[in-house]
Amino acid sequence: MSLVVVGSVALDSVETPFGKAEEALGGSATYFSTAASYFTDVKLVAVVGKDFPERHIRFLKRMGIDIRGLQKADGRTFRWKGKYDFDLNQAHTLDTQLNVFASFRPVLPEEYREAEYVFLANIDPELQLEVLGQIRKPRLVACDTMNFWIERKSRKLKETLKYVDILTINEAEARELSGDSNLVKAARRILSFGPRAIIVKRGEYGALMFSDSSVFAAPAYPIESVFDPTGAGDSFAGGFMGHLARVKSINDRSIRQAIIFGSVMASFDVEDFSLNRMKRLTSRAIEGRFREFKKLTHFEDLKS
Ligand code: AMP
Repeated sequence: MSLVVVGSVALDSVETPFGKAEEALGGSATYFSTAASYFTDVKLVAVVGKDFPERHIRFLKRMGIDIRGLQKADGRTFRWKGKYDFDLNQAHTLDTQLNVFASFRPVLPEEYREAEYVFLANIDPELQLEVLGQIRKPRLVACDTMNFWIERKSRKLKETLKYVDILTINEAEARELSGDSNLVKAARRILSFGPRAIIVKRGEYGALMFSDSSVFAAPAYPIESVFDPTGAGDSFAGGFMGHLARVKSINDRSIRQAIIFGSVMASFDVEDFSLNRMKRLTSRAIEGRFREFKKLTHFEDLKS
């Protein structure tokens, strides 16, 4: 079942207390599609500049990602520079250069338009809407965003949310988007913008899903060696959507499993810089960690 993603493909410069990476492969759509490629076919929509290294294109192809929707434009590739302090839950953006994304007009290849699963990864909400408008009959639309867009394009973002089934967003951004500091109230307010469910990502504290009818809490996998949290949110979304597209059913059971697969992919992502850990995974390792999550959260009911 095919899955289309639009989002950034980037060159990231990242500093954490444990090291740094200069101009490494990154971007919301890159992390998403790499994670999702372990579950299903992924079709990528994005733009890079003429300076984008060929080896990264070869990497995406090697992961089996369909890059017919990845345009190469005159100009420089999107760049993001970020820093994390010892509190790895909070990214500090030092610089964002939209470059070729500033004038990007996505035109989806014909084969992309029949996709049933769509992920609008973190990027300008105008682009998210443009891509969504070209997909004929999406079955499930999920979306992510960040403070950069909440602050600059709030009206467009709220328009996009009317067409979105599930929003994934991190804790601070949920508060910012809703204007409410209590997470439960923030989630309720965001649901009133359109989505049927919202998944709040809480870094090392896991994720919470709110819908009108239920709340589900997933822990994060306890990891001793967290090197670089960049892309954890997008990897989460990749595991989440990848699983749903793979099992072809959307119900409470598959959504809960998908949240755990999302948490599994995020936990692998943070173990190394850029996509270094994620690019050398196996289905066996992914399923093994899924089972570890089951053990981590299992407890017996009271005897009646
Ligand atoms: P996250 O999963 O939230 O850690 O996402 C990190 C990725 O988001 C990085 O690889 C960046 O290249 C990308 N990114 C950062 N800022 C933006 C932005 N304003 N729009 C699109 N992508 C961004």
